[in-house]
Amino acid sequence: MIDPILVLMNGGLRLDDQPALAAAERAGVPVIPVYILDDAVHGEWKPGAASRWWLMKSLEALGRSFEAIGSRLILRAGGTVHMVEALLEATGAKSVFMLRGYSPAARWTEAALHDMCKVRGVTCRRFAGSLLLEPEQVATGAGTPYTVFTPFWRRCRELIEDIEPTPAPLRLRAPEVWPESADMAELNLAPKPAFWADPIAASWVPGENGGRLMLDRFVADVMAGYQRTRDLPGQEGTSRLSPYLAFGEISVRRVWRRCRAFATAFETAESGAAAYLREIGWREFATHLLFHFPDLPEQPLRDQFKAFPWRQGPGDALTEWQKGLTGFPIVDAGMRELWQTGWMHNRVRMIVASFLVKDLLWHWRDGAAWFWDTLVDADLANNTMGWQWVAGCGPDAAPYFRIFNPVTQGEKFDPKGTYVREFVPELADLPDEYIHKPFEAPALVLKAAGVTLGGNYPKPMVDRRLSRERALAALGSIKKN
Ligand SMILES: Cc1cc2nc3c(=O)[nH]c(=O)nc-3n(C[C@H](O)[C@H](O)[C@H](O)COP(=O)(O)OP(=O)(O)OC[C@H]3O[C@@H](n4cnc5c(N)ncnc54)[C@H](O)[C@@H]3O)c2cc1C
Repeated sequence: MIDPILVLMNGGLRLDDQPALAAAERAGVPVIPVYILDDAVHGEWKPGAASRWWLMKSLEALGRSFEAIGSRLILRAGGTVHMVEALLEATGAKSVFMLRGYSPAARWTEAALHDMCKVRGVTCRRFAGSLLLEPEQVATGAGTPYTVFTPFWRRCRELIEDIEPTPAPLRLRAPEVWPESADMAELNLAPKPAFWADPIAASWVPGENGGRLMLDRFVADVMAGYQRTRDLPGQEGTSRLSPYLAFGEISVRRVWRRCRAFATAFETAESGAAAYLREIGWREFATHLLFHFPDLPEQPLRDQFKAFPWRQGPGDALTEWQKGLTGFPIVDAGMRELWQTGWMHNRVRMIVASFLVKDLLWHWRDGAAWFWDTLVDADLANNTMGWQWVAGCGPDAAPYFRIFNPVTQGEKFDPKGTYVREFVPELADLPDEYIHKPFEAPALVLKAAGVTLGGNYPKPMVDRRLSRERALAALGSIKKN
């Protein structure tokens, strides 16, 4: 019997440009692809409800892709090391291949697997494949990690060489006997109640094929104008690739390659591709930061913010924000888009986050936890950096005193109220002039639009002049420390 290779698929749920899988295929021996759901190792950052739904659909899709090339996806739930040991026993495999991860849980798991394999005399290899550059490759002249984005990205652009993604295997050699696989139900990923995810399912096609179609759509219809449309939540002006990137259903190296090809073919549109690659750069930045500062999900990068007088824990204000009942239309539209579709536009993420941490003075970690549970693209590095950026306590963050005004932000980026009208339908008949500030509309205008403040739409939950002053006073209190 030829010893098979176990390939852990956790780091990248795809066949295309999956270096661990490609290396196993090249070895010419039977390959056993495995996915292990190890909730315990992630602690409070185990996949949230929306991510669990996505993961279930994605694993189903991946299973079908493996079957199409004569293989199978073996599922297991439990501690990764224990599960891999059991699979080594059951299959006689002498090698374990995997993609490298950067979160504290992934790094802990890799180290533990490595130790276990060493003791058993099994080869344990990890492959880079989720980033354009590895964290060890990008350092300042002093050898320290970059904590400011612009010089970080400049350095990355110098270092990134021509990237040639590896194509998906056409056929994988099967083992003589397949090990047992858990049923999908044993992974406990399905939403409860089941219909909870129906609106999310109407918005997305999880899995590698869905990601490829999304990239095709973006390159064909959106990329050229991305720089202009990326801040407009009422348009399909971004790639919506974030969940596919978060689950590794599309390779960032494949995305890079397509962008470069586009820029070369349509030189006048280079700015769209370059602006897009810069956003991909923010993803690299966030992941490198999480690698270098593994306690970022819990602790602010700027120490002085440890003393900030945040409000914390459950509370009515937090619930109103979560439900999209703040009385500020762009904030409510964003929070309802998140609940209904599992995704929110980046501009609106910044507005709703600013409202929570500055106008409500609520702890950014409570906001991050809500996003974690409801986003289909929940990504520990991006989510942590996004929240710390808005709260002003993170790397290269927006200064705390810069407080987004939800009315002027709405008027600037959603001038006709297209976005608000879609997600806050009770305001749909308001004229453009008042769509972002119904609380300033004359009684007759409200009546004509069928809006009753405090009735079918809430009155503003804060007086923004006062909440702004309160936020600045809170900032003053930590500056004295
Ligand atoms: C408070 C807050 C929380 C966030 N939480 C997450 C999260 O959990 N997961 C997540 O993927 N993104 C998060 N982001 C970043 C960003 O909002 C999303 O990546 C983006 O909206 C996804 O939509 P898209 O794929 O259409 O983006 P595009 O504009 O098409 O960008 C392409 C890709 O670049 C990356 N990217 C874009 N903007 C950022 C950014 N600011 N930081 C890091 N990477 C970026 C993403 O991978 C994205 O898919 C957060 C931002 C904020 C302000």
